[in-house]
Amino acid sequence: MTVSQTEKRDERAAGGAGGAGGAGGAGGAGGAGSSGVTGPLRPRPAISRDIAFFFEGAKRGDLLIQRCEACGSLRHPPLPSCPACRSFAWDTVTASGRGTIFSFVVTHHPQLPAFDYPLIIAVVELEEGTRLVANVDGVDPGDVHVGMPVLCRMVEMDPDLTLPVFSPDPDGPAGPDGPAGDRGTAV
Ligand SMILES: [Zn+2]
Repeated sequence: MTVSQTEKRDERAAGGAGGAGGAGGAGGAGGAGSSGVTGPLRPRPAISRDIAFFFEGAKRGDLLIQRCEACGSLRHPPLPSCPACRSFAWDTVTASGRGTIFSFVVTHHPQLPAFDYPLIIAVVELEEGTRLVANVDGVDPGDVHVGMPVLCRMVEMDPDLTLPVFSPDPDGPAGPDGPAGDRGTAV
């Protein structure tokens, strides 16, 4: 199932935060590209053979989770073998896109030219149980809280990079206010 329609970075509402780091971890510095995106490009994630499926899925609008074919365990970040049973056989499942904020930070500095600030970076716990790092937008940074229901959509940052971005889920189980929880640390 496709989590949502992919949107393009330049189509985002003003003030929204884009993807940083994504689920693939830190990447190198972005450089000038041949895309039609104006301004600096997002840093490139380090895409190995183990994680390539995640970004290919994102480009199609699917949020994929690696699954062990032997024992069925889900895992993220992707790994060559299953930590539970050591099997090397795996396939993927498509996440619903629903999750909750497990932890987050609101970054103000240092500011990189490819990002909008303040930038919300969260560890999102998907309803399937795995967690990933992604940006959150569509919410005032002061209103983000642990346990907040969020929904994934794919944002095409440029023709070569599509990342999951989360925003508040109006149909989330806890409602717009969500459950009380520890607040993240603003840096
Ligand atoms: Zn396994």
